[in-house]
Amino acid sequence: MSIRITFHGAAQMVTGSKHLLEVNGRRVLLDCGMFQGEGRESDAKNRHFGFDPRSIDAVILSHAHIDHSGSLPRLVKEGFKGPIWATPATRDLCAIMLEDSARIQESDHEHELRHAREGARVPDPLYTVADVGPMMDRVRTIPYGTGQEVVPGVRFMFTDAGHILGSAAVNLTVSDGEHEKRILFSGDVGRYVDRLLPEPAEVPQADIIITESTYGDRDHPEPGEAEPELLRQVLHTCVEKKGKLIIPAFSIGRTQEVLYVLNKLSNEGKLPRIPVFVDSPLAVDATRVSRVHSDLFSPEVREELHRDPDLFSFPGVEFVQNVERSKQLNDRQQPCIIISASGMMEAGRVRHHLLHSLGNARNTVLAVGFCAPGTLGDDILSGREVVHIFGEPVRVKAEVARMGFYSAHADRRELMRFLEGQDPASVERVFLVHGTPRSMEGLRALLMERGFAHVEMPERGSGCDL
Ligand SMILES: [Zn+2]
Repeated sequence: MSIRITFHGAAQMVTGSKHLLEVNGRRVLLDCGMFQGEGRESDAKNRHFGFDPRSIDAVILSHAHIDHSGSLPRLVKEGFKGPIWATPATRDLCAIMLEDSARIQESDHEHELRHAREGARVPDPLYTVADVGPMMDRVRTIPYGTGQEVVPGVRFMFTDAGHILGSAAVNLTVSDGEHEKRILFSGDVGRYVDRLLPEPAEVPQADIIITESTYGDRDHPEPGEAEPELLRQVLHTCVEKKGKLIIPAFSIGRTQEVLYVLNKLSNEGKLPRIPVFVDSPLAVDATRVSRVHSDLFSPEVREELHRDPDLFSFPGVEFVQNVERSKQLNDRQQPCIIISASGMMEAGRVRHHLLHSLGNARNTVLAVGFCAPGTLGDDILSGREVVHIFGEPVRVKAEVARMGFYSAHADRRELMRFLEGQDPASVERVFLVHGTPRSMEGLRALLMERGFAHVEMPERGSGCDL
């Protein structure tokens, strides 16, 4: 009997998703995510996988978010030669997101070189744009619901996780010749309410469950139906004041949701006639990918496509690619809407727009997502009178508004609903990953109440025989 799992990332934390499954000496990696947000500590973890990339036979990728896919170019650069299995939409999103990630690393590296003290060693980027192509060449796609052998003894099937476009739960059947085990790897689980995506699909019964637990200790607030109405009011105030409306939004997911709501208002004749600029190259690309994969939207949204074949475009919208055009928007005096990344206002072109707009009471900033403590977005939302952008103090005179949008992660109730179809008596072990100690404790208590006998919270680098 030889089936073993080792947790190399997203263990007692929410980034770096990476789990190594070994069956009969063959090695399959579930996700290959980047560690994020801890400075030097993350950098060290991203440089050392904890296993030899050359020894891995195949990768199965749950979805395109960087904390699940962001170390793939480095894995290939360090000698991984096997296939990377993903859904077609995950492949298309990875192509743009990993290139973007590489570009950010290259420019951060140049910046560090310029500002480093003499003689100081500046580490190389984890990978560059040139490393992304060879990695993408290794991607093999498979749609939801189709069985596929990865290596002898390991088969899997993707089911829709409803988290982002193309996201999947991985349903594995592994066999060492004597024993067979059904292993469920949840990836990131989405919502049962989402503007664009369907509910997470039901998953087959498993013997072993590896599940995310990001919000395992809390429930999201009930989504308000009044949000499009709120957006409409903000728009009208903005037009009356002849100001700009800046909407900082994540390029993938949230930008498309905002465009979808604006498109709906436009179709209903409720959108004021002012130009709308989508000013983030990644957001423009992600919107294109979303259009290509519109068959993955929820049944209700697909129904709408019969009446309006492009749900992200309406009269007055312009997708801005080049920097010159983006700069022109800074000097623009007429009312307009600018949707730009990043959502937490920490990076990207949105900082230029904020720098030029915050000081004028005619303008409005509308936050549509979560802003982590310590970010520029959080400073602005918490009502600071002066914030710092590119090191410069900026007085906040613009109006600041907030619109609650759905989180992309299931909450406690939804994680339990995702596992509803599982008979706890048949499940030998549950491993909680992708959570904080607190969120894991919360989910563990609930799962044990429901009859799951062995619920574990593995540490990074720990492994066990199944
Ligand atoms: Zn994710």
